This record gives sequence, structure tokens and C-alpha cells, in this order.
Amino acid sequence: MEPPLDKILLVEDSRVIAKMLAHRIVKKLGYQVAVAGSMAEAKTLLTQPDTEYFAALLDLQLPDAPNGEIVALVKEQGIPIVIFTGQDNDDLRDRYIQMGVVDYLLKKNLSEMDYLARLMIRLKRNPAIGVLVVDDSRAARKLICRHLDILRFQVFEASDPEEANLLLTKYPQIRLLILDYILREGNGTELCAQLRKNYARQELVIIGISGKSGGKGSAHFLKSGANDFLQKPFTSEEFQCRVIQNIEMWETAQEIQENANRDYLTSLYNRRFFYRSVEKWYANCRREHYTLTIAMIDIDFFKRINDRYGHEAGDQVLRGMAKILENFFRESDIIARFGGEEFCVACVNLNPVESQALFDRMRQTVQNTAIPSEVGDLHITISVGLCPWLGPDLAAMINEADQQLYQAKRGGRNRIAIGQTSPFPTATPLSDAPAGKG
Ligand code: GH3
Ligand code: MG
Ligand code: MG
Repeated sequence: MEPPLDKILLVEDSRVIAKMLAHRIVKKLGYQVAVAGSMAEAKTLLTQPDTEYFAALLDLQLPDAPNGEIVALVKEQGIPIVIFTGQDNDDLRDRYIQMGVVDYLLKKNLSEMDYLARLMIRLKRNPAIGVLVVDDSRAARKLICRHLDILRFQVFEASDPEEANLLLTKYPQIRLLILDYILREGNGTELCAQLRKNYARQELVIIGISGKSGGKGSAHFLKSGANDFLQKPFTSEEFQCRVIQNIEMWETAQEIQENANRDYLTSLYNRRFFYRSVEKWYANCRREHYTLTIAMIDIDFFKRINDRYGHEAGDQVLRGMAKILENFFRESDIIARFGGEEFCVACVNLNPVESQALFDRMRQTVQNTAIPSEVGDLHITISVGLCPWLGPDLAAMINEADQQLYQAKRGGRNRIAIGQTSPFPTATPLSDAPAGKG
């Protein structure tokens, strides 16, 4: 989905600083950097076809442009700009911020290097994130929207709670809400409390804003479920830092959630997540009379790979196997590593005949794929047990797939095993499911 737009333009005449910065950006952030040592070089880079920059990092004093002329040139191209300069001058800073520059950082402040890295990450990722500004004052809304535009968010605005609710439903990419205390209809804290019934704090970040003095507004907002609060009047710098910090916290929460669902070795889903999500599928399938197929997959004689080539090669085979599964199945199927060299897959809308055909093709794909490892390419085979029948519950279906896997192993491995008929005679009638008999 994300376009391959991961290049930063760095304009800096000091070779030492340019090299150090470029190195840090490439190493820490993984973005590409194009370096220009002068305004002329920057012009050349900007006119090259098929090159786009998602951000520019600019020095203000260049040999052929000593007074920040580079800023206007880059701004014309619509590239977000961060200034990185030796000129510690507040008037200059204000002038550039007014112009819509993302930030003005000082070279002498080493701590700003870290902030610079965080800003670059934001400029790269913010275009995928929606922010909704709710304020009944059009002027106040516009001011906040401008700050958010500069940070490259997708910006939405609402003047009352009803409009806010509508936009939140319509645009699921909205992850942050900037909410004013006083709204024409109701107030910000009421809306905040109401939204918290549907959106958890890690799901939708809410920052309250109020001009009320004495800290009343802040306590009120925080008690109503806001993640953070800003007291008016605030500077653009303060607003920017607060927004960035809250979005970073939201991202971290997402990553933790995602990691909790994944197996560390293969990055496939883990058993816990498999149960949680397939339970929901199972309930749906029961209600709607869809079919559900559960497959238990086990690598044949995997122990020998460890014994012969070592544990590291064994791990590489497990990762390779995970890749084969991910490439083979559709995005909508759920693939999990259950433990050791055992995997489980769930697919919907396959009858028993189709299930058998699909998994047999998968078995052949595994057999025919060379898996790279530190000791060279390795080949494996797998045994598969299938349960394409909707059972009384998910555990019973997994158990049936396990029984069939045992049969496949007993039958000589490198094969699929499937029951002749459903072992669940009393389960929901499958008569209206397509081709129900095996
Ligand atoms: P079968 O065909 O009957 O399944 O034989 P097998 O050798 O594959 O099965 P067995 O259960 O006897 O051995 C599984 C091996 O998998 C034993 C264990 O050391 C190894 N194993 C489990 N988890 C990991 C892992 O994360 N990494 C590596 N490298 N090996 C693992
Ligand atoms: Mg095995
Ligand atoms: Mg095993």
C-alpha cells in the first residue's frame, strides 16, 4: 500500500555533518538520503525525473545561497522541510515557522538529533493517519488544522458532536481527536466520555483543549477519558510535541498488541491469536451455514534436521516453511504456528473435496521448494490432517484435524489425511453446504 517514497533530501555544505546525518538516517531509520552540498546541487537533484522526497533537511547557509534561499526553492516542490542550522536566532526561527516549515532545529543541541529522527519518522508515516479536529470556532479549527497539515496528517474537521461521530464512522483511519472544551451543542468532555464507550484509549487518542483557567478543564477532560490535555494559549511547538508524543504512544501500543499475537520466530500468528480469531469465525459459520476447514500441518522428521544441521538451520527451515505458507494461502486465511514444527491453518468456504485438493497442492509446494539455510538449500515434506466439517465447537474440530494428522504420519508421512464423513453427526446440518460428503 505505502508508495516507495522513502527518500530524504539533505542539503548541507559541511561534508562531515552531512555524512554523519545521512549515516544516522540510513542506519537508524532505514530511509534513503540524497545529499546536496550547495543550492545548485539541490536544484539538480530536484529536477531528476522519478525521484520524490517525503522530507527535506536543510542548512540555511550554503556557499551559493548564504541566506536561507534554499527554503523557498524546496518549498515550491511541496516537500515538508525541517531546518537544521547553526543560527540560534528566535526571529529567524519564527519567520520560518510562519512560512510553514515543520521545525527549526539547532545543530549545537545534540538532543535535537533524536527529535529530528522522530520527526522524519512522523513525516513518513503521518500521511496514513487521520486526525479529526472538533471545535465550533472556525478560526480556531483552521489554526489547528494548519499545524496538522504541516505534519502531513490527513486532517478532518467537525463543528459539532454529530458531525464528529459521522466522520469517525466513515473514516477508520482517524486515530487522533483534537477536542475543544466548549462546543455549541454539548461540550467536549461529554463527547469524550461518549466516544470512550466505543473507542478504547489505545484505539483512538483524544487530546482535549481548553481556555478555561485554573486547571479545571484539564482534570475534567482526563476524567472523561482523554489521553492528554493542552491549555490555551499554546505555542505551535508545544502543540507539535504533544501530538507527536501521543501518536508515538499509540503506535507503541499497536506494536505491543501486534507482537502479542505473533510467534517470535516466524512472525506467523500464535496459538492464542488463532483461537481468539477463529472462535469468531466459527460462530459466524454456524450462524450463516458457511463451511470452515481446519488443517494441522507437521513437518516430517524435523528432529533429523536439527540433529544433522544444527538448531540454527532448523530455525531457518521453520522460517522458510512459514514463508511458503504465507505465499500459498490468501490474506483472508489464518495461519498460525502452534508450537515446534506444527502449524495450523483455517480457511472458510471450502467443501471437503476442495479442501483436500487445496492442501494437497500446498503439500506438493512444500516438497518442491528449496529452503535456504546456512548449510545450503534444504528440502522437507509435511503431513497434514484435515477437518473440513463444522463440529460442535472449534476445539473438537482441531482435535479431529489432529487425529487425521496422526493417521497421515502412520500412513507413511508426506500426505494428507481426511475422514470419509463428518465425525460430528449431531452438529448443525451441513446439507445445504456445497458437496458435503467426502
Ligand atoms: P515426525 O515426522 O513424526 O513429526 O517427526 P519429527 O522429528 O518431526 O517430530 P518430533 O516431535 O520427534 O521432533 C520435533 C523436533 O522439533 C524436536 C524439537 O527439538 C524440534 N523443535 C521444536 N521447536 C523448535 C524450534 O523452535 N527450533 C528448532 N530448530 N527446532 C525445534
Ligand atoms: Mg514433525
Ligand atoms: Mg511434532
